[in-house]
Amino acid sequence: MKRNLQIKELFLKNFDKPITELKFKNLYELIVCVMLSAQCTDKRVNLITPNLFKAYPDIKSLANANLSSLKSYIQSCSFFNNKAQNLIKMAKAVCENFNGEIPLNEKDLKSLAGVGQKTAHVVLIEWCGANFMAVDTHVFRVSHRLNLSKAKTPEATEEDLTRIFKDNLNYLHQAMVLFGRYTCKAKKPLCKECFLSHLCTSKDKEI
Ligand code: SF4
Repeated sequence: MKRNLQIKELFLKNFDKPITELKFKNLYELIVCVMLSAQCTDKRVNLITPNLFKAYPDIKSLANANLSSLKSYIQSCSFFNNKAQNLIKMAKAVCENFNGEIPLNEKDLKSLAGVGQKTAHVVLIEWCGANFMAVDTHVFRVSHRLNLSKAKTPEATEEDLTRIFKDNLNYLHQAMVLFGRYTCKAKKPLCKECFLSHLCTSKDKEI
């Protein structure tokens, strides 16, 4: 347990209130960015969104979007066919069921097309600073290399991390994303410069 707390403290010390690399100006842009970022890089999403938000500046314009036109804006994004359909369905549901206001609770967010637990949590983390964990590919890899979880699914990994860390989960989530993206990378992790190296016994460790 002491080791887990040391890991937590070191993440918080090395990442001072980290924020997402997605670029957004309001809650509408945030939810669209997060939906597009599933199995796609933030870099790619940031290239797509300036023109996308010029064409569809708010939830109402997205709800009324023509599917083929919307696809043409996001076609460089992975799974763009499904994402385009879900974006329109999500926007329609927000207009019809929530008076055009994107809901800020997990249950209502998860009622929207294309919004699962991870997307809902990331929106609540980024917009409200909510004490939630969200497990993407980076957080999953880092958790397992650091032996914080042995769970097979992102959902069960999220439960482990939430139980272990308890608070500051929003910052820890973002710290683990950035740590996984730039240091504890899938291929060739930068173990020599890793601030957790002394606590890591992963078979992937390269020293
Ligand atoms: S030592 Fe290497 S494998 Fe272990 S956490 Fe650090 S970067 Fe990842």
